[in-house]
Amino acid sequence: MITSISQQLFEKAQSIIPGGVNSPVRAFKAVGGNPIFIKKAKGACIYDEDNNKYIELINSWGPMILGHANEMIAEAMQQVLTDSWSFGAPTRREVEMAELITEMMPSIEKVRLVNSGTEACLSAVRVARGFTNREKIIKFAGCYHGHADCFLIAAGSGAITFGAPDSPGVTQGVANDTLIANYNDLVSVQNLVDANKDKIAAIIIEPVAGNMGLVLPEKGFLEGLRNICDKNGIVLIFDEVMTGFRLAKGGVQERLNIKPDLTTLGKIIGGGLPVGAYGGKAEIMNCVAPAGKIYQAGTLSGNPLAMSAGLAMLNYLNENPSVYQNLENIGQKLVQGIQKINQKLGLNYTINSIGSMFTLFFTSEKIVDFGTAQRSDLVLFGKYFQSMLKRGVYLAPSQFESLFLSIALTQEDIDHILYAHEASMKEII
Ligand SMILES: *Cc1c(COP(=O)(O)O)cnc(C)c1O
Repeated sequence: MITSISQQLFEKAQSIIPGGVNSPVRAFKAVGGNPIFIKKAKGACIYDEDNNKYIELINSWGPMILGHANEMIAEAMQQVLTDSWSFGAPTRREVEMAELITEMMPSIEKVRLVNSGTEACLSAVRVARGFTNREKIIKFAGCYHGHADCFLIAAGSGAITFGAPDSPGVTQGVANDTLIANYNDLVSVQNLVDANKDKIAAIIIEPVAGNMGLVLPEKGFLEGLRNICDKNGIVLIFDEVMTGFRLAKGGVQERLNIKPDLTTLGKIIGGGLPVGAYGGKAEIMNCVAPAGKIYQAGTLSGNPLAMSAGLAMLNYLNENPSVYQNLENIGQKLVQGIQKINQKLGLNYTINSIGSMFTLFFTSEKIVDFGTAQRSDLVLFGKYFQSMLKRGVYLAPSQFESLFLSIALTQEDIDHILYAHEASMKEII
């Protein structure tokens, strides 16, 4: 029997890597079938080990906003290589990076660079706790802030005063300090705050949520959170790992004009290399070691190669605001095209979209939180995913993800995606 190279690699990988992948969503468990191993990419297209070509709408889960193998970023990385690429000592590019971040996101007065979004979020929570001298945090069901223990928490019973571990290995002790509220539900937040008076250090939220499929904040929701935090001395943390430098140069906080106390960043900030950052009010950030007592460190933090890619990316975005108009146009063309096809076929599935992010939910219900997102028809989504893949369009392999667009998508690509969408829908419905 002839098997594909992807298939052979996956079989080998499964014997030596848990589940054959280094991050769970890559395994295609939510859509069936085996994952495809990627060999290379250019612009909006990726090629697998068997030389199949796909137009893709993941863009490494966000970072490749200028398309794959961007030459300007490649050149910036080349420049680092002759001078060596890790010293564990301060370097010029870290200062330039901090300058650029504080310019692009004015709520960030001081910033610390780390190596991933996970690290940024767990550090921001530690700093909020150290700053307020309080222990509990509030997060929202369906929001993802990386895989630190304090975020892998579900509501459970007793949810008003403590959470329940959402993964084996997370202790009840940790879960006791994370409370779960519902997205777009200020009452659920107020109830938790009232029941835990002067115990909440931080509220952490994706100000536009992309990890339960795309869910937008309703009018007044983020303002309401800002209010609750101000009244109760709680640190408001916007997790803009996904949305930062994507939904606007200055992220959701610029687009919706609302300022958090701390912001976490990742993905685009590394231009495709592993970088994260957290920052915000100087008063809070001055508590971080060695300026203050709250410990946080990293051997490879501010790594020159990663900085060069991130700097090239952010400088480009900062100097070319037309990128964002282009992304809006591409997003609109795709979403409106899909809507038109769905109407023609008599399907009224919900599409949530903003700028260069969107999710097609396989339900006609309005999706405002994790509960409503979970009513989607996941079997149908799996069929849709496979049907699109067969036609050369690589989507996020889960209903509970946003799609990410890049400026590399051409009109031809968009036309092909829309053709594939119509053919797939006709095939699966
Ligand atoms: C991806 C993501 C993270 C985690 O970032 P990693 O670099 O994968 O650790 C955190 N928060 C949000 C909103 C994300 O989308």
